[in-house]
Amino acid sequence: MNYESFFRKQLDGLRRDGNYRSFANIQRQAGEFPRATHLRARVRASVTVWCSNDYLGMGQHPQVLAAMHAALDRCGAGAGGTRNISGTSNYHVLLEDELADLHGKEAALLFTSGYVSNWATLSTLAASLPGCVVLSDAGNHASMIEGIRHSRAERRIFRHNDVADLERHLAALDPDVPKLVAFESVYSMDGDIAPIAAICDVAERYGAMTYLDEVHAVGLYGARGGGISERDGVAHRLTVIEGTLAKGFGVIGGYIAASAALCDFVRSFASGFIFTTALPPAIAAGALASIRHLKTSGAERARQQDRTVRLRQALDAAGVPHYDNPSHIVPVIVGDPVLCKQITDLLLERFGIYVQPINYPTVPRGTERLRITPSPLHSDADIDHLVAALKALWAELHLARAA
Ligand code: PLP
Repeated sequence: MNYESFFRKQLDGLRRDGNYRSFANIQRQAGEFPRATHLRARVRASVTVWCSNDYLGMGQHPQVLAAMHAALDRCGAGAGGTRNISGTSNYHVLLEDELADLHGKEAALLFTSGYVSNWATLSTLAASLPGCVVLSDAGNHASMIEGIRHSRAERRIFRHNDVADLERHLAALDPDVPKLVAFESVYSMDGDIAPIAAICDVAERYGAMTYLDEVHAVGLYGARGGGISERDGVAHRLTVIEGTLAKGFGVIGGYIAASAALCDFVRSFASGFIFTTALPPAIAAGALASIRHLKTSGAERARQQDRTVRLRQALDAAGVPHYDNPSHIVPVIVGDPVLCKQITDLLLERFGIYVQPINYPTVPRGTERLRITPSPLHSDADIDHLVAALKALWAELHLARAA
């Protein structure tokens, strides 16, 4: 077989469909977010970032940077090993305590990313509980899907955010088999929010465990940043709350928070936890500072909500269509991969605005979009500039306007 030609042909297929991904070389500048430098060939241009998952700008927060600098100077660069073999530091221990407290759980367990936490936990739980059936929301993230698939447990997919459909599936199962309902709070691409309490009601009625991915909500919602489950007062009803340290908290890493026995079980049996080097202490220290800050400061959350409302109003006034949802994620649907890329290229080149096009397989074909994420650090002028640019492109490219 000609391996190289195989790879090239596959890539050509992606290009033909408009789904080939090119990464923009965006140099973040601490203290300047959402401003960054776009590097292309030998050209450096200042751009405003409108698609970052550093939702609250915590990746440049002075307390986070100071904590990371101090830990780096004290401990050096890497963790030095897996958690079991020389990789656990006091920062990891304190961070797990902080996360358990954030979600009102007995314990928490760190992973190297949110992806790994979903993959490792779901695959371990579903593979270990004898005869386990996983009920998975149709909109779940790839990391959850892959974890469930890897477990080889039976999987039932219920319609997205549809509690009646979930109940229909649960009612059809043997009451004695272990069941696990896996879902998210804020869905990252449409920005809609799960009816967590209603899902817990049904899960409790049928004796199912619940696993909630709060990746796009931690730091952002709830009085202390504990996510939608905190905001809705239902954190205690969930068996497992999973989150990331990379988005609202601005650093990197993932975790679960749950009972002491469940965390100890995953710690003891999950290959994705056991056989990989621990997060560097400086990362753990930065995440710890970020969580502690957001537990007591609501200013970032309030300002982000304010920015989101203002952006939506400006888009409405300009006739640029966007999904109406109750979260901080503002999806502007284009519906065509080539057009989507053309719009984002023009935004970057002509207006100094960086929004990455979101194409298949991240979203279904035909729903290609701009996924705009306002942060507390976007000014009124930033919003006005973005909306004026979109309005101009909508007219130039004859795109459908909102009624
Ligand atoms: N869960 C959801 C719903 C996500 O959208 C993502 C990533 O975007 C992850 C998990 C993975 O988190 P991380 O980026 O920390 O690996």
